Amino acid sequence: MSRIVQKFGGSSVADADSIKRVAKRIVATRQAGHDVVVVISAMGDTTDELMDLALRVSPRPAPRELDMLLTAGERMSAALLAMAIADLGMTARSFTGSQAGVITTANHGNARIIDITPGRIVSALEEGDVVIVAGFQGVSQDTRDVTTIGRGGSDTTAVALAASLAADHCEIYSDVDGVFTADPRIVPKARHLTEISYEEMLELAACGSKILHLRCVEYARRERIPVHVRSAFTTREGTWVTDLRDDGTERPVIAGVAHDVGEAKITIVGVPDRVGEAARIFQEISSIDVSIDMIVQNVSAVATERTDISFTLPKTDSRAAVEALTGIQQEVDFADLLYDDQIGKVSIVGAGMRSHPGVSATFFAALAEAGINLEMISTSGIRISVVIDDQDVPRAVRAAHTAFGLDADQEATVYAGTGR
Ligand code: ASP
Ligand code: MG
Repeated sequence: MSRIVQKFGGSSVADADSIKRVAKRIVATRQAGHDVVVVISAMGDTTDELMDLALRVSPRPAPRELDMLLTAGERMSAALLAMAIADLGMTARSFTGSQAGVITTANHGNARIIDITPGRIVSALEEGDVVIVAGFQGVSQDTRDVTTIGRGGSDTTAVALAASLAADHCEIYSDVDGVFTADPRIVPKARHLTEISYEEMLELAACGSKILHLRCVEYARRERIPVHVRSAFTTREGTWVTDLRDDGTERPVIAGVAHDVGEAKITIVGVPDRVGEAARIFQEISSIDVSIDMIVQNVSAVATERTDISFTLPKTDSRAAVEALTGIQQEVDFADLLYDDQIGKVSIVGAGMRSHPGVSATFFAALAEAGINLEMISTSGIRISVVIDDQDVPRAVRAAHTAFGLDADQEATVYAGTGR
């Protein structure tokens, strides 16, 4: 008998009927003799709706109260699921994140899981219950307040629980058959992957692929938890995210194409070309806890001895960043600040890049042929990213996908969800 953690996303529990369907699936796993711990997301678009509601009540809701509100979404679906399982003749018990022993930092809206003390879960399992845990939430060690761990965070709850319960693996159920070479909503001929390495999955998640939460992949890699990403709507095998050690099989150079339209670009114009200016600017940004992504500094003009620095950051942080930079404009003595949120980032990711030359040439040629202008470029060992006009993103993703021979013969199925 093994211990399995199953996580179901919001689109798999969008209404009463789907909750009952998920309950059947959980019961079947339990009847097969496994200990089952389920992590559940809020129903459908509940989290977005609660967020909209909060903003209608108050333009800047207090982060503590926002977390109290948002965690209610997962609490609802957890309780409903436990009821549905009970009706199928099995005992189930739901827990909030706090009751389940998910201990986090105090950073509301984006707290980090520091520890899990799963005492109550273990006793419930020993008593033969199916355990349901509300995802995406915990309790702060310092303040004892309820926290959330970032949008999409239930994936991370699931992997963290799998690690602390020494589960065999973690199953993440969503509305597609697993990980694809691109978002099937944009590339209908995206190809299904039967397996992918932690390393590549980490880059894809960091570059905007929404299939798995970034911290979930970090956690899984650190704790060596195999993750099976699969559809809640079929029984098909999904994608295994694992170590994927080099076993001699030839793998494609590019594992996938990711895109992100959640970033904005800030350009600081006319920064004096002196030692320490970049440090001063980025210290200011880091002091307000904003993490930036790509940075580009131009060669300074000889005549003026000034240069421009551009960087990208999450749109949601850009107001704070602009305010902070405006505050140091006189001190640094830069000329102007430009802000652009009509940008998108497209990235190709693949461990094969390390040993195959010409990948960037193929990528850029495909984008050029599609008539797409590049605003910024950045690379890591296994990734190349470009920043382009946001209108061009779908075309760019499709062009890259075709150029690397990733198009499948069949169209991928998206079973549910609004992709919101
Ligand atoms: N319900 C939360 C969200 O929509 C967490 C999750 O689904 O993982 O972001
Ligand atoms: Mg998700």
